[in-house]
Amino acid sequence: MSHLLTNVSLQAYHTFGIDVSSAFWVSLDSQRHAVEFLVDNIESDMPVLMLGGGSNMLFTQDWSGLVIHNQIKGIDVVQTEGDYIWIRVGGGENWHELVMHCLEQGWGGIENLSLIPGSVGAAPIQNIGAYGVELTEVFVQLEAIQLSTGLTRTFDRQSCQFGYRDSIFKRHAKGKFLITSVTLRLTRQNHRLNTTYGAIPTELEKQGLEPSIATISKVVCDIRKSKLPDPDEIGNAGSFFKNPIISNTAFEAIQAAYPSVPHYPQPDGKIKLPAAWLIQTCGWKGKRIGNYGVHERQALVLVNYGGANGADILSLSQDIQASVAETFQIELEREVNVY
Ligand code: FAD
Ligand code: NAP
Repeated sequence: MSHLLTNVSLQAYHTFGIDVSSAFWVSLDSQRHAVEFLVDNIESDMPVLMLGGGSNMLFTQDWSGLVIHNQIKGIDVVQTEGDYIWIRVGGGENWHELVMHCLEQGWGGIENLSLIPGSVGAAPIQNIGAYGVELTEVFVQLEAIQLSTGLTRTFDRQSCQFGYRDSIFKRHAKGKFLITSVTLRLTRQNHRLNTTYGAIPTELEKQGLEPSIATISKVVCDIRKSKLPDPDEIGNAGSFFKNPIISNTAFEAIQAAYPSVPHYPQPDGKIKLPAAWLIQTCGWKGKRIGNYGVHERQALVLVNYGGANGADILSLSQDIQASVAETFQIELEREVNVY
């Protein structure tokens, strides 16, 4: 049974903590309830917003339609073979709690993605990534209900069209499906550790730890806690922009003017630049305008110090984009979903 609520405050349900509300709200806690609810409401032309942990969104106004809060839980082993184990996870499970559960079972593959906020159902949307690993590396398939038909569809890795912090669900399938479960292939032995990301080996060495799935998770959590603002303390949605990937020619022009520009060559010959460095070089790091601003330690994170308005934060983000475009001729692409 799904209860429709009206005029629900969204402030506690997203990590920016903006004081907005939704006209309608429903929590769905099983695939069956979700299908029933969506089939019953196919005729409705009300705008629908899927909500997980609210850690990748900025509200600039009240939501005049329906919010569907994904609470579909469950972690099931669906197959084991050789070194591998396949698990199907409810979209409403918390991502970091899933990582901790897998570590307790001795399952590897997502330890580098420790402490990323949000739900399992949202993880494929931007192909979450951190510390040298992306979801796509362990992703098998997801199940999603199409809002316009109530039919369940399976998307394999290819049909998700994963890219850098990107998938089909951020492009033409945006807002059209409710992701109800995600299936991952993890290792249960002979783990393939990923220690390519500079901060991991440095921190392991500093703490005198041998690389393992548990120690990698530990140092990733330690590094993240030391660098990132905790949304429970200061409202934010993590990185506001993606790191731009530019041509080698464009990079050489920037490097000529800024010889120490940090950069990461990509397999296709292009160059990834840290957006934080671009923003910081334009002078925005730590800039505070009343109750919102750019975080003092991490220029990629815009923050709500309390009581900020989402439209003001959006406007600040646009000023930053204009400033980076003018200085570097780079169009920063927003990572956060704006409503
Ligand atoms: P929400 O914010 O609830 O939703 C995000 C988008 O997905 C919205 O468009 C929403 O409508 C849609 N959506 C949500 N659930 C579903 C569903 N079940 N079906 C269909 N659509 C859905 N991201 C990274 O990639 N790497 C990081 O290291 C990282 N670090 C972060 C650190 C901090 C402090 C914060 C605040 C955020 C960070 N993020 C990071 C961003 C964020 O945590 C991820 O994008 C996460 O996957 C969002 O999950 P969520 O459940 O909170 O999604
Ligand atoms: P960092 O270690 O200070 O590095 C800055 C940027 O340089 C990163 O964004 C990263 O790109 C890139 N980089 C660093 N070392 C790299 C390497 N060996 N190979 C390729 N690229 C490298 O970054 P940070 O801000 O503290 O974040 C650490 C990790 O957590 C990053 O992976 C970041 O994406 C992730 N994170 C994401 C969010 C979010 O909301 N999306 C928020 C916080 C942290 P990549 O971002 O491509 O890895």
